[in-house]
Amino acid sequence: MFEKFAETLTSAGKVASEKAKIGTDYAKLNVKIASEEKAVADLYQKAGKLYYKLYKDNTSDSDSCLVFAEITEKLDKVKSLKDQLAALKGTVECPVCGKECAVDDDFCGKCGAKLAKQEPEEAKTDAVEEAEEAEIKVEVVDDEEDADSDDNV
Ligand SMILES: [Zn+2]
Repeated sequence: MFEKFAETLTSAGKVASEKAKIGTDYAKLNVKIASEEKAVADLYQKAGKLYYKLYKDNTSDSDSCLVFAEITEKLDKVKSLKDQLAALKGTVECPVCGKECAVDDDFCGKCGAKLAKQEPEEAKTDAVEEAEEAEIKVEVVDDEEDADSDDNV
């Protein structure tokens, strides 16, 4: 849109100053609209967060139920990914204030909350997932020799 605007300016020269003014008004209005729309989107997001917090466990609306379930699932996924990242970096996230603390720390350096040690739970989850995957593969590759199944992982 700005390229077209620039083109118009070059080809029509000074005569275009009136058009340019209109173009600027368009641009200004578009910027204002975009800015208000962004604000609305942010407010929708806030409203959604509030609504989720208040009603995730006691809504009778089935549409909301589905959305809430999806949000909860994604939040769990994010938490698990953050834990993995923290484990890679050798840090652990404070459950209260969210500060990254060294994995060896017993308490958060910022708010003083007790930090939980959390390796065993994750290892268990991975093991279960691997077991399920292995089962499916065995069924599919049933006719072939068993020795192959390890190579497919
Ligand atoms: Zn903290």
